[in-house]
Amino acid sequence: MHGYPRQGPNRELKKAIEGYWKGRVSAEALRTTAAGLRRANWEQLARAGVHEVPTGDFSYYDHVLDTSVMVGAIPARHRAAVAADPLDGYFAMARGTQDLAPLEMTKWFDTNYHYLVPELGPDTVFAADSAEQVAQLTEALGLGLAARPVLVGPVTYLLLAKPAPGVAAGFDLLTLLDRLLPVYAEVLADLRAAGAHWVQLDEPALVQDRSPAVLNAAARAYRDLGTLTDRPQLLVASYFDRLGEALPVLAKAPVEGLALDFTGPAAGNLQDLAAVGGLPGKRLVAGVVNGRNIWINHYEQSLATLGTLLGLAERVDVSSSCSLLHVPLDTGAERDIDPQILRWLAFARQKTTEIVTLARGLARGTDTIAAELAANRADLASRAGSALTHDPAVRARAAAVTEADGRRSQPYAERSAAQRAHLRLPLLPTTTIGSFPQTAALRTARADLRAGRLDAEGYEERISAEIREVLAFQEKAGIDVLVHGEPERNDMVQYFAEQLTGYLATQHGWVQSYGTRYVRPPVLAGDISRPEPMTVRWTRYAQSLTERPVKGMLTGPVTMLAWSFVRDDQPLGDTARQVALALRDEVNDLEAAGTSVIQVDEPALRETLPLRAAGHAAYLAWATEAFRLTTGGVRPATQIHTHMCYAEFGDILRAIEDLDADVISLEAARSHMQVASELATAGYPREVGPGVYDIHSPRVPDAAEATALLRKGLAAIPAERLWVNPDCGLKTRGWPEVRAALENLVTAAREIRGGL
Ligand code: GLN
Ligand code: ZN
Repeated sequence: MHGYPRQGPNRELKKAIEGYWKGRVSAEALRTTAAGLRRANWEQLARAGVHEVPTGDFSYYDHVLDTSVMVGAIPARHRAAVAADPLDGYFAMARGTQDLAPLEMTKWFDTNYHYLVPELGPDTVFAADSAEQVAQLTEALGLGLAARPVLVGPVTYLLLAKPAPGVAAGFDLLTLLDRLLPVYAEVLADLRAAGAHWVQLDEPALVQDRSPAVLNAAARAYRDLGTLTDRPQLLVASYFDRLGEALPVLAKAPVEGLALDFTGPAAGNLQDLAAVGGLPGKRLVAGVVNGRNIWINHYEQSLATLGTLLGLAERVDVSSSCSLLHVPLDTGAERDIDPQILRWLAFARQKTTEIVTLARGLARGTDTIAAELAANRADLASRAGSALTHDPAVRARAAAVTEADGRRSQPYAERSAAQRAHLRLPLLPTTTIGSFPQTAALRTARADLRAGRLDAEGYEERISAEIREVLAFQEKAGIDVLVHGEPERNDMVQYFAEQLTGYLATQHGWVQSYGTRYVRPPVLAGDISRPEPMTVRWTRYAQSLTERPVKGMLTGPVTMLAWSFVRDDQPLGDTARQVALALRDEVNDLEAAGTSVIQVDEPALRETLPLRAAGHAAYLAWATEAFRLTTGGVRPATQIHTHMCYAEFGDILRAIEDLDADVISLEAARSHMQVASELATAGYPREVGPGVYDIHSPRVPDAAEATALLRKGLAAIPAERLWVNPDCGLKTRGWPEVRAALENLVTAAREIRGGL
């Protein structure tokens, strides 16, 4: 077991931490809550039959930040805060304070978990601080349990870091390895002294395409750590993909064990392991239970894999593929899902049982788990034969898709002329990305509707009133392409998932996104269809209030998949195609209702790019096909927009063009319009709206700042193809900022138009 969800059955940890931030919970009470949750997790794991519980997987915010604390890599600006109070200093690094910027946050590989990026440089002085690790180990050992501390490994730690502010971007972080290893040596010695027999070092960064220099660093790291005399046994863990070239490196290292993922894209580890001659004399922790999805295991397949592995290592233990941090806690808490369907799902608690069952079958023979095998077979059969997972109409339609369905009827140049004539927009048209502030009043209205305090009619009147206000503001501010503001949407994926057949919602399926932020991804369980239009009514209402074009607003198929738990019983591309066809109907209905501009958001296009380059082409092929299928059915004069954010676009520029959208808006304010020049260099021929307002900050850019950014944009993209918009939706911002920022944005656009 690599790790367990941290939050507790009722998100007790979130509540305690947020209470602490507000001054309502003391530090001591917070520590007590945390210790209670750790203990409950360990006892639950032990009761289920897990022999060696993980420690150090718990965190008050993030385990990479914990690693920075463990190795003493506290950024200079946070040192005084940490010295004054370690807990407050820790949260200052995580969230910032009035005067101190936090560490940057970014995605943990291709998951929806975010970690805090270590800031390192030539002046970084590492110093071991094993107190927290030792304390958690001591707690678990004190319960009479065997425990295995889990640490982020030194190579992954460095590969996840970035040069500290002021350090040259090209600084090679791996040069810090020699300084870092003695610190790890010290932590390992401390853990051994505290009673650890095994320590796990996680090196998921080695599953990506890595240079010989990185592989050499990994070899050096584990040679150095492996040849220490005062250390526990070492288990080096990897997950999320195949180890590839790093497998022989780690197999040869003087460590006692490897943990490998055998699920999804990492399944190739099985052949690779056989090819390197296995792990003679070593322990293999076999991740056959997928730690990232919520589906029950296929016992027979797993047992077959495990059977092969038995011949390839000295000892084989059954495990999840990665930490169970990425899945919700317990299906037992779900009341609204059909009990038959619930049997197809496995959250952390059920996965633990699966691991123990498989381990028993492996050790004592499958006849000792005959009942479990039979139940597993029946559940898999029920899933495979269900009307939910096999809707003949959806399948027939998906099978009949032709290449032409994903192609607009005219090439971009001709469409663009038709759109110009139809829309009659000024140069540098202004627009927004979709959402307007989700005010407390709106959230209360939604809660009141759910609780029955407000009836549907009352709720809809609130939504209509909000739309009227949003429209009135945009008209007055002089924005050219308006939006209705998305007040009716709780979340850009959930809103659609709730209306599509084939999706399930959970009541308690929370997973950590970052810190105390938890999300409840919907479950894409079956064949997807759209019983009725989803957005037409509010879009039409908004359009009825204005002469200017109102942009229809949809979430794209790739993002619908990326931010859901997706079925694993067919290729992702097949699922994406079904979602695309449902969305295509929505796009066509919007057009029929008089919508001339339709935006299909794909902020997740880049983030689900496979970790290894070998998988990129196939992924991008189905992903861009799904987008084109969504948007390909409209008339030439209908303008298709897309939007992306939080991304390095560099490696998907080609794919962006393959979407064949007419206009793309992108996050660009923080990077000073860099994306505009990247697109220009790549020869992107269409219209672009590089964001000129960073919506992640309460700061309001003044008109001069927006003008300067637009001038930069104009240097790369001609005026005929440049749009003026914020970086992303405005839902997290307050009205006063939004009003001022958008007015400044319009002023900037007008000023530049005047000078053209
Ligand atoms: N249309 C969405 C909004 O404005 C887009 C959100 C996103 O890109 N994450 O909120
Ligand atoms: Zn966005």
